Amino acid sequence: MFLKLLKGPLGNRLLLEMGAAARESRPAGEIRGPDLLIKKTLTTFRRSVVDIDVNGFLIDLDGVLYVGKEPIPGVRELLERLDQAGYEYRFVSNSTRRRRRAVAERLQNLGYSIPESFIFTPPLAAVEFMRRHKKESCFLVTTGNVHQDFTDAGIKVAEEDVDYVVVGDAGPDFTFQRLNQALRLIMEGSQILALEMDRYWMEPEGLVLSTGPFVAALEYATGKKATLMGKPSAEFFQMGLRDLGLPAEEVAMVGDDINTDVGGAQDLGMKGILVKTGKYREEVARASAVSPDLVLDSLAHLGKLL
Ligand SMILES: [Mg+2]
Repeated sequence: MFLKLLKGPLGNRLLLEMGAAARESRPAGEIRGPDLLIKKTLTTFRRSVVDIDVNGFLIDLDGVLYVGKEPIPGVRELLERLDQAGYEYRFVSNSTRRRRRAVAERLQNLGYSIPESFIFTPPLAAVEFMRRHKKESCFLVTTGNVHQDFTDAGIKVAEEDVDYVVVGDAGPDFTFQRLNQALRLIMEGSQILALEMDRYWMEPEGLVLSTGPFVAALEYATGKKATLMGKPSAEFFQMGLRDLGLPAEEVAMVGDDINTDVGGAQDLGMKGILVKTGKYREEVARASAVSPDLVLDSLAHLGKLL
């Protein structure tokens, strides 16, 4: 089954609506300010009537299915429509504070019935990376139950003499002691795996440091470079693609981060769909060099195009 973004009356209607929005807010022929995304999207639409067809989706979680404790309206129904229409989809999240099973349970509590096996997170990518390189031990700078993703896979989680130091968003468990132990292990020969490299994220009380600054500190101290496991690394997207069983050009990635989600996916040959929910900020999208293939107010609006 193919998704035809421009074919049929609904697709054309969307194009006309977007065209009207662009005309209202800028003089003819001029591209500037907040209209840039709309203009770019229109251009892409007109240019790629045929080659935007997709058979499957990779979908980000945080900011696309939910924001905080609130599911995004209409997204659950959209997933049901994808099922009914025969589209394949998997979820690729940079979340590193929960093990895969806990991510699935959280989604269940938000009203989503998503099999655990459909969810891909950086700890799973790290496990696969270690298997591929035939390495079997690691020291974890993580929090909560993330260690179970490693132990369930038969990886030895230890405090010394390890192949890899794995750094995720450890939150309050980023202690001076833990980081110093990581430093010593890296100096003794362990490699660094960064589960993600985000700089910060938003909690209800304000911005908090994410994994990136701590990985940077260990890199700076040791002179070694970390290997990135999560988005936008190609290996991470490929893990989802392999499970979908589809080539990149038949898949669209849907996310709220124009660089990590949309840019990362496009670099691999996928289509990139930006949604205006979650962390989406117009000024960030405008400043980005990435041009999404499609911009939607919400993943729920994808239904208009099916
Ligand atoms: Mg997100």
